[in-house]
Amino acid sequence: MTSHDEDGTSESVADGRDGGDGGDGASIPVLGATVDDQTRCVHYRGPLDVVAIRFHCCLEFYPCFRCHTDAADHAVSVWPRDEFDTHALLCGACQTTLTITEYQSTDACPACGTAFNPGCSLHYPLYFES
Ligand SMILES: [Zn+2]
Ligand SMILES: [Zn+2]
Ligand SMILES: [Zn+2]
Repeated sequence: MTSHDEDGTSESVADGRDGGDGGDGASIPVLGATVDDQTRCVHYRGPLDVVAIRFHCCLEFYPCFRCHTDAADHAVSVWPRDEFDTHALLCGACQTTLTITEYQSTDACPACGTAFNPGCSLHYPLYFES
C-alpha cells in the first residue's frame, strides 16, 4: 500500500537577481502619459501605482483608463470573464505580466513583491467584466 502525499506545492525558487541591468530584453511598451518607467502616469503616480493594464479593445498597455481615454480614439471594452486568463496586467517594477485572475486575487506582485494599489479594485468594472 503506497500512501503518496502530494501536497502540490512546488517551492518557488527566488532567483536573486541583484543589480542586473534589465531582464531578458522583453520590455513591454506602455502607452499614455507615463511619467517614469514603472508605468506611473500623470493621473496616478503614487508609490503603489505600478501596474499597467492591457485594454481589451486595442490590446495596448496603458497606465490607467484616463490615459487610454486621452490617447485612444475609441471606447474601452472590458475583458470578458472567459478571457481572465489573459496576461493583461503588467508590474511596472519588474515587468512581469499577470493574468486578470492572478491580479484580482493578490495585493502585491508575485514576482517582486511590490504592493499594488488597493484602490485599483474600485476601477475593476472599467477594465474587467464584473
Ligand atoms: Zn483601447
Ligand atoms: Zn493615466
Ligand atoms: Zn513585480
